[in-house]
Amino acid sequence: MPKYNIIALVDCNNFFASCEILFNPELKGKPVCVLSNNDGCIIARSNEAKALGVKMGMPYFMAKKQFKNVIYLSGNHPRYNEISKRVMSKLYDYTPSVEVYSIDEAFLDLCGTRKLFRCSYEELIEKIRKEIKEDIGIDVSIGLSYSKTLAKLACEKAKEIGKKNPDIGTYKIGFREIKNELRLAKIEDIWGIGANTAALLRKHYISSAYDFTSQNDAWIKRVLGKVGLDLKYELLGEAQNPVNPEKTLPKSIQKTASFANFTNSKEYIINALNYHTHRVCKKLRHLDLVSSGVSIMLRTKDFYILSAKTNFETPVNSEFEFNLKVKELFEEIFNPNLNYRSCGVCALKLTSGNNCQLSLFNSERIEKAQKLSDAWDKIEEKFGRAKIHLGTNALN
Ligand SMILES: [Mg+2]
Repeated sequence: MPKYNIIALVDCNNFFASCEILFNPELKGKPVCVLSNNDGCIIARSNEAKALGVKMGMPYFMAKKQFKNVIYLSGNHPRYNEISKRVMSKLYDYTPSVEVYSIDEAFLDLCGTRKLFRCSYEELIEKIRKEIKEDIGIDVSIGLSYSKTLAKLACEKAKEIGKKNPDIGTYKIGFREIKNELRLAKIEDIWGIGANTAALLRKHYISSAYDFTSQNDAWIKRVLGKVGLDLKYELLGEAQNPVNPEKTLPKSIQKTASFANFTNSKEYIINALNYHTHRVCKKLRHLDLVSSGVSIMLRTKDFYILSAKTNFETPVNSEFEFNLKVKELFEEIFNPNLNYRSCGVCALKLTSGNNCQLSLFNSERIEKAQKLSDAWDKIEEKFGRAKIHLGTNALN
């Protein structure tokens, strides 16, 4: 028998709304919604707001007309980051193997902890849930199984049950339950299957997770590649993507380089900064991170350093957003009377971008920029690096 992983997914319920209620207990039991930056749309809802029928991502101007009794709050992200840190650090009391997946989710590898805590894994996740609730005041749901994909599925179940019965917040999918759970799970509800893939699979009469795992390996590999095949085995309880505590997010990402010659050409330096920005953003996207701040640095011929930094209104990882700020910073510090030897760009205050709550911050403009940047990555993948540059004036 192969060695199996024991993986738990801890996911904070209605995270941003819960944080607001924690800071203002008068909100408890009331329908509360948190709005995206510039109050564009709804990005988190308390259970009471959900029960009224307020939808995730709904534009604020529509929601406030339709749901007049709901309390709408502007987001307070430093506060959410702070509470997220408290929750995450609690998890390390149980295992060093914690993979912080987003601001409100983390995977835990619990293998072996049963002996340490002298209880079953189910008892342990219940203990974790209660302790987070008691010590921090945040409700979490925890799914337990043998792979991340199954833990995610279990966690969704835990949330579903928790809505009706707030005393329950954990759910386990053991080996004996896998088959039945896969039969009940719609293909589009599986983590990692997007709308397009689900539509494709449905054309092949695959409508449940069970149908998917019944396909032979060669077919899955041909249609969905290795990712698809990994997904099949994850669903069968064999972790292909174990918990990776190393994946804990870097604090910043920096790219710098020296110029070929000393220069004081504005255009030349901006082009270099744009190039570094692209490399920084590409790395952010690769790691699924977004950045809340950016700094730039110019080093003079005499090794004197000029630098400046600023924040984004909303976390981003697109060149097009970065370049606007980079250009402003550059104008702030550039002195045409000096000669420069190198420059650099650094993305600061990184958080996971992979979270639906975060991606919904994106205003239309940012979303467009995001799409352009993704297209850029694809073109580079196909034709190699440096086929495209942002012109110096592209963003004026
Ligand atoms: Mg959550």
